[in-house]
Amino acid sequence: MQHHSVIITGGGPGGLGVAATLEGWHPRFEGNYQFPSDEVQTLARQHQESPLALDPHELLGRGHRPIEFFRMRHHPIQDALPLDEWTLKFTKRDRVDWLMLSTDGPGGLWNKVPREQMTLGPAHWMELSHYPIRRFYEETGRKRDSNALVHRNDLVPYYQACAEELGLNPYIRTGMKVTNIRPADAKVNARFIVESLDESTGDTTTYSCDYLIFGVGPRSALRKLSAPGADRDYVSLAYTHPTDYPGERVLVVGGGRSADWAAQELHDDGRVVVYTMRQQPEAHLKLINDSQHLPYYQRWAEILSSDQERMGLLYGSNVTAFEPDGVVAIRTADGPIILQVDHVVVEIGGDPDYELLNAFGNDLTFHAKRDNFRFQLNQLVVDQATFESVDISGLYPSGYTAQGTGLSVIGFHTGCFLIAGDILRDMGIL
Ligand SMILES: Cc1cc2nc3c(=O)[nH]c(=O)nc-3n(C[C@H](O)[C@H](O)[C@H](O)COP(=O)(O)OP(=O)(O)OC[C@H]3O[C@@H](n4cnc5c(N)ncnc54)[C@H](O)[C@@H]3O)c2cc1C
Repeated sequence: MQHHSVIITGGGPGGLGVAATLEGWHPRFEGNYQFPSDEVQTLARQHQESPLALDPHELLGRGHRPIEFFRMRHHPIQDALPLDEWTLKFTKRDRVDWLMLSTDGPGGLWNKVPREQMTLGPAHWMELSHYPIRRFYEETGRKRDSNALVHRNDLVPYYQACAEELGLNPYIRTGMKVTNIRPADAKVNARFIVESLDESTGDTTTYSCDYLIFGVGPRSALRKLSAPGADRDYVSLAYTHPTDYPGERVLVVGGGRSADWAAQELHDDGRVVVYTMRQQPEAHLKLINDSQHLPYYQRWAEILSSDQERMGLLYGSNVTAFEPDGVVAIRTADGPIILQVDHVVVEIGGDPDYELLNAFGNDLTFHAKRDNFRFQLNQLVVDQATFESVDISGLYPSGYTAQGTGLSVIGFHTGCFLIAGDILRDMGIL
């Protein structure tokens, strides 16, 4: 059994931020910065050479959110800061013994989004502060605006460059699926046992560790349609690009942003699209109206207000069966209907795979997080100063799975400093 002090599950932006900090890239505050609160300013000045050494309970106890302590320095203004105005800097110190196990490479789920996917927010909102995306653009000769949305063809290479620039690659094992996490028994001098499956060879490896970063992201357990026949060859369970789906008539099943993306791209590729979703039209129209700052939702408004004949929307509907030869049965508010299509794209999202933690019992404490855009998931409740699980000592949800982070990279990224800081203080390194 291999032992590591820290095992990080998941190579998305959540896991990568913790990895970079444990690799020794420790934040410091420098220059002319100002926190809105005088007492926070005083604490920041006292600890500016090593803010990780500050026990964030000191902030929490005074009514300040520790994650904001770092986020305010990373994003002090709305726009991306010019590189020479950053007051959040990094000092390279010794690494601690960490290992990352991840199915996808650096960038997490961005490796699998549709081929033309853009972000919902500006590029700099997606960055790890350890390696600003503006610097990546400059160093790779990309003429891009870090205040503009970013294409996944820039974003995935950005996360790969983070891993390279920050020296993380030797400790990242990709194609490794964690299949089980359990408490170590008394014979093992560690807290956790982690089992993983090498997806290419089928080999399993067992690790032990003292700290576990749980960063498997919001799609580690993909939702399944209960309708029979979902395994037929004309049904695809994820959307990539119009050219990947043959035929003229495509049925899109979903209702979230990913299904919206698929339905629109297929429509604009000239297909006849039927788009079925469980929600009612009011919810969909609200999302479209509230998202008019995004080009693809402007396009949705255009499609709906035009005389187009190639986008049929079935609200309040459920697919009940996929029959042979593209025949699909759907229950609608007006009664059952049968459609014949060439292809079906199912985009119904996923959830964090909390079953990996089943060995810790069924009583984990969750926080039901919702955003205004129909996105919802259960997050693990954590100590807001350290992001350590309140139920499992030594386990730290990172990224989307931790309560109190918001549902975006800008919202959760600086949680990595709370996590790494707590581990480093606990190990006696800070
Ligand atoms: C289409 C789409 C668009 C989005 N747009 C935005 C946006 O514009 N801005 C924004 O901030 N967020 C956006 N998001 C949210 C997205 O979740 C975050 O950007 C971010 O990727 C979440 O980071 P993460 O590290 O929590 O998880 P992920 O990026 O999901 O990374 C976790 C990784 O863990 C790995 N993993 C999962 N299970 C296991 C296992 N059992 N064993 C080993 N490894 C495992 C997988 O490789 C997975 O990729 C979007 C999401 C989607 C799906």
